[in-house]
Amino acid sequence: MRKRAESDAETYGYILNPSQKFLKALIEGLKRNEERYGYPSCPCRLASGIFEHDKDIICPCEYRDPDVEEFGACYCALYVREDREKDGIQVQQVPERRPLNKQQRAYNITVGDKTKTSTSTSTFSQESLDIKLRLHYCKQCGYVVFREDPPYTCPICKAKKMFAEIKTVTTLHGL
Ligand code: SF4
Repeated sequence: MRKRAESDAETYGYILNPSQKFLKALIEGLKRNEERYGYPSCPCRLASGIFEHDKDIICPCEYRDPDVEEFGACYCALYVREDREKDGIQVQQVPERRPLNKQQRAYNITVGDKTKTSTSTSTFSQESLDIKLRLHYCKQCGYVVFREDPPYTCPICKAKKMFAEIKTVTTLHGL
């Protein structure tokens, strides 16, 4: 888990939290969540245990890059901007960026719903989860993703805030 985080930090030009004690606690939290849910959800947030509801908070979460850019660290302060460390700047408290509707969608799930979803995939519908998937493309490299929200940083060319939605057009034959 730590190696994965180190390599990811290096790829994006971040560092891991320099406090070894704090870092160890976060890595252990990620490991525990991976054992519990099958994916390493954020150690600082409550996960629902349902992948579709939690995928935005699987580490590294969708909110990491804008948080690191704006506040110098991710919400948990696992990933830190390199200049923070060099300049000896303390990591400030990072406000929750995860939209309320996503939090509600995850936390409103009852145990009954969860059992139903995990035992019968045929009853699992995108509509019931209120997830609207859309096509987005990176304006710099053309990488295309099909998801609810576009990534902040393109995983291929690392450009920031370069995704635009691809509007699909329905045509009627013969018109
Ligand atoms: S806030 Fe940090 S530790 Fe938590 S999921 Fe996002 S990147 Fe990982």
